[in-house]
Amino acid sequence: MPARIIAVANQKGGVGKTTTTINLSAALAERGRRVLILDFDPQANATSGLGLEKTDGQSLYSVLLGEATLESRIKPTSVKRLEIVPSEVNLAGAEVDIPRMDRYLQRLREAIRPLADTDRYDLLVVDCPPSLGILTMNALTAADSILLPIQCEYYALEGLSVMIRLIEQIRNSGANPKLEIEGIVMTMYDQRTNLSQQVVQQVVQHLGEKVFETLIPRSVRVSEAPSYGQPVLTYDRNCTGTAAYRQLAREFLARERERAAPADPVVA
Ligand code: ATP
Ligand code: MG
Repeated sequence: MPARIIAVANQKGGVGKTTTTINLSAALAERGRRVLILDFDPQANATSGLGLEKTDGQSLYSVLLGEATLESRIKPTSVKRLEIVPSEVNLAGAEVDIPRMDRYLQRLREAIRPLADTDRYDLLVVDCPPSLGILTMNALTAADSILLPIQCEYYALEGLSVMIRLIEQIRNSGANPKLEIEGIVMTMYDQRTNLSQQVVQQVVQHLGEKVFETLIPRSVRVSEAPSYGQPVLTYDRNCTGTAAYRQLAREFLARERERAAPADPVVA
C-alpha cells in the first residue's frame, strides 16, 4: 500500500501546525503506524521539537533541487516507527530558487512520490510554514489531503475562508484535483471561555463533519514538551494534552477506516 501524504497547513502563524504534526504523528506511531514527518518549514520547529539538531545542509532543499535523494535525509527519532526529514534555514532558499524551475509546483510531489509508493511508511506528514508561499503550495500539490489546525480564537474564521478558497483553487487549477480535506483540528481550546466554544460552533457550522470532534485543550505540558525534544506523549504520559492527541489519533484512524470501507448501500 502506498503511504498517504498529509499536509498540515494554515497560513496563519502559531495555530498549532507543528504541535499537531509532532503529537498526532507520535500518537499514530504508538498505534502501530509507520510515519515519516517532512519538516517543510525553514523555522525547523518540528526538527528541534523532536530533539534533532539543525544541521547545515540537512533539509529538503537539495532534495527539491534534485541534488540529493529523499532517503539520504531521513533520520530516526526517539519514538518508535516515527522518522523525520529535518529542516534548517537553508530551506528558505527554496522560495527563491524553485519558482525558476520547471514544474515548480510539482517539485515536492516528484521528490517524495517514489518513496510514498513503496510500503515503507503508512503516512507522510508535511509540516508547512505559516505562509502561502512556494513551500506550502508544493506541499498542497503533493498531498492527498490537508489537515488544518485552527486556534480557538476570534480571528480563526478569517484565516479559514482563505484556506478553503486556496484548496478549491488548487483543485480547479489541475495542480492537485484530488486534494481532500482530512479534517480541521481545533487547538488550544479553553473550556473556561465562551469564546473557545463559540469559535468551535462557528467552524462546525461552516465545515460540519470535517471538524474533528476531538478538541485539543490548551495545556502547559504541550507547550513545554518541545524544549525537551519530545512529543508530549512521552514527556508526560498522563496529561490532558497527551490524552487529547491519543484521542485525535483514534478518531483519525476511525475516519480513515470509514473512508476505505463506506457503509453498505441501503437497498430500497
Ligand atoms: P508556525 O506558524 O510558527 O509554524 P504553528 O502553527 O506550527 O506555528 P505551533 O508552533 O505548533 O504552531 O504552536 C504555537 C505555540 O503555541 C507554540 O509555542 C506551542 O508550544 C503552543 N501550543 C500549541 N498547541 C498548544 C496547546 N494545545 N496548549 C498550549 N500551548 C500550545
Ligand atoms: Mg510550525
